[in-house]
Amino acid sequence: MQHTSLIVSVSAALQFLSAQYGQARAGTFDLVRDGQPACGIVLAENPTPAARLAALELQYHVWKISGAELPIRSETERVEGRRILVGESAATRGFNLRGRDFKPQEYLIALRPDTIILIGRDWEDTPANRQVEGRPMVGETLEGLRHKLDFWKTVGCPERSTAVIELPGLYDDQGTCLATYDFLERFVGVRWYGPAPLHVVIPARATLSVTGADVRRSPALKHRSAVPAGNWPFLRGQWGQFSRDQVHLYWRRMRQGGERWAGNHTFHRATIKAAFSDPEYQSKNPRSQGSQLCYTHPKLVNQVAQMARDFFDGKGGLPEGWKAAGDYFAIVPDDNMNLCQCTTCAALLQKGRTRKTGFFSSGEMSDYWFSFVNAVAREVGKTHPDKFIATLAYWAYALPPDFDLEPNVSVAPCLHTCYYPVHAAMKENDLTFYHAWQQKTRAPVFLWVYYHHPMEPALIDRWKCFPHVMVHDTARSMRMFIRDGVRGIFECGEQDQLEQYVMAKVWDDPEVNVDGLMDEFFRLYFGAAGDAMKTFYLRLEEIACDPANYPTPYLRSSGIDWKKAAWERLGTAERMEKLGVLMAQATQRAGTETERQRVALWRTALWEWMRQGRDQSAAPKSIAPAPPTSNP
Ligand SMILES: [Zn+2]
Repeated sequence: MQHTSLIVSVSAALQFLSAQYGQARAGTFDLVRDGQPACGIVLAENPTPAARLAALELQYHVWKISGAELPIRSETERVEGRRILVGESAATRGFNLRGRDFKPQEYLIALRPDTIILIGRDWEDTPANRQVEGRPMVGETLEGLRHKLDFWKTVGCPERSTAVIELPGLYDDQGTCLATYDFLERFVGVRWYGPAPLHVVIPARATLSVTGADVRRSPALKHRSAVPAGNWPFLRGQWGQFSRDQVHLYWRRMRQGGERWAGNHTFHRATIKAAFSDPEYQSKNPRSQGSQLCYTHPKLVNQVAQMARDFFDGKGGLPEGWKAAGDYFAIVPDDNMNLCQCTTCAALLQKGRTRKTGFFSSGEMSDYWFSFVNAVAREVGKTHPDKFIATLAYWAYALPPDFDLEPNVSVAPCLHTCYYPVHAAMKENDLTFYHAWQQKTRAPVFLWVYYHHPMEPALIDRWKCFPHVMVHDTARSMRMFIRDGVRGIFECGEQDQLEQYVMAKVWDDPEVNVDGLMDEFFRLYFGAAGDAMKTFYLRLEEIACDPANYPTPYLRSSGIDWKKAAWERLGTAERMEKLGVLMAQATQRAGTETERQRVALWRTALWEWMRQGRDQSAAPKSIAPAPPTSNP
C-alpha cells in the first residue's frame, strides 16, 4: 500500500513532465517522443471488458496529450520495443502477475525497464458470470449497469468510431480500469472534473515520459455509490452539455461502483403484489392498502428467508423493485406507518412509544422492524452464515432496538449529512445512533448519506435555494466514516461539481489533501479566472456553513426553514453585491475560450440562479443595484 499523497506525487510527475527532454533517463519510461509513439499497448487476445476500456482510455488520453496514437496490439501479435501491458496477458504472466491473484479492487501500476504494467482483478465475461443476478440500489440489474456505448463518439471523436463496446458493469470487478485511471491521474496529470470533454483537464506534451515507484493499492471505501446523473440544477448547469453515455464513462473514471451491496425499500405495493400475496400474512390494518405485511408472521419470515437463500444460491427470481446484490439481501419496509395491528405486532410497536426523538430519525418502530430482520437473518444464517441480510436504519427505525442483533445483519444508517455544518442537534442525534450501530453490529456497516436539502424542497416548491456548498464538512464526515470502518456509502441527492469530485477523491483515499485538490481544481479548470472563482466558491461555503446565519426561527428542532433563510439570512443584499463583484472579475479574467466556457457555466448555474432566487423572494431588495457582469 502506497501512502504518498496524490497531490505530492502528481506535482512531482508534472514537474518532471515539464522538464526538457534529452535521451531517455534511467528509471523513466517514454510513452511518446516528439509527437511520435514510443511504445505499444498490449491486451490479451480476449481482454476483459475492463482491460478493453482501459486500453482505449489510455490510447485516447495519450493521443489528446501528444497527438501520438499508441497502437493497441493483441498478445498474439509481435510487439517491438516498449510495451504497456493493460490487464492480464501472456506477457503479465511472464512477470508472474495474474488478475485473480489480486484482491477485489486491488490493482497495480508497475514500471519495469521497457514495460509498464496496469493490472488488477477484472470481471470476466463468462456465461456463469453473466447469469449472476443482482439488483443494486435503485432497482437496475447488474446486467443493466453494463452500459454499452460508442467510445470514440462518447469522447467527442465520432470520426474515429469503430464499434459499440460494453463497459465493465458498475459493480463488476475492474481492477485494470482502476490501475489505468490512477496511472493517468498520478503519473500523467489528467483530471476528470465532469463527464464531457470540456470538463477534462489534459496536459499538452510532445514528449510524454513517466517515472516513479510502483503503486499497489485499492480504494479505501469498498462500495462507492455517488453516481450523479446531472439531474439537479447546480450539477446540470455546471456540466452544461453532456450525454448519458458520457455520464456512464465518468462514473468509471471517478471509480464509482466497487463491492456489490444493496439497501433500499424492498416491501412495497409492487413487490408485495408480485411475491407476497398470501392472505395469511397481510397487514391487519385497513390503511395499509397492500403496502405493509404482518412482520411477525412466521410464514412471512420463512418465505423471505427462502427468497434470500434462493438469491444466494443463484436461483434467481427476485421481483422487479427488489434490492439484493453480492452477499447482501435487502429487506426494508415501505415508507408509511400503516403497520399491522395484530396482537403480536401491536405489542412490539407498543414498546416503541417512548422512543421518539423529536427528529426525523427516531426509534418508535425499531423493536418491531428489527425483530423481523433478526428472524429472517436467523433462518438464513443456518444455511448461509457468510451472507448478510441488509437493511436501513432509517426514519422510525433509525435507532438500534433494545435487543442484540444477529451477526449477519448488515445495517446502513441514513444520515442527514447536509445538515451537519449548521444543525448541531440533528448532527448529534444522527451521530448518537450511528455510533450505537457501530457498537451493536458485527456485520459490515454501510451508510446512506443525504445531500437532498435544501435543493429538494426548493425543487418541489419551485423556489431557488442558496447554494449549500459544504465541501470541507463533507470531506470531514467522509473521512470519519471511512476511519470508523464503514464499508460503503450511497449518496442520495447531488452536490455541486467540485464537492462531488472531492467526495469521490476522499472515498478513494481519506488522507488526500482536500485544500490541495481544491486549489488544483481552480487553477487547472479556470486558469486566469481561478483565483476569483475560488474566492467566490469559498465565500459561498463560508456563508452556507456558518451556524450563526441560521438563528431561531429559521432553525427548528426538526430542520431548517431553508426558503426563508436563503435570501433573508444567507444571500443578503450586501453579500450578493460582493459575490457579484467576484463573479464579474472571474468573467473578465477568463483567458482562453475553454476558461470562458467553464466560467460561463458556473456563472449561470450558481450566480444567475442566486440572482433569480433573490429577485423572486420576499427578502428586502438591495439598495444599490448589483454590479453588472459581462453576460452575453
Ligand atoms: Zn401482525
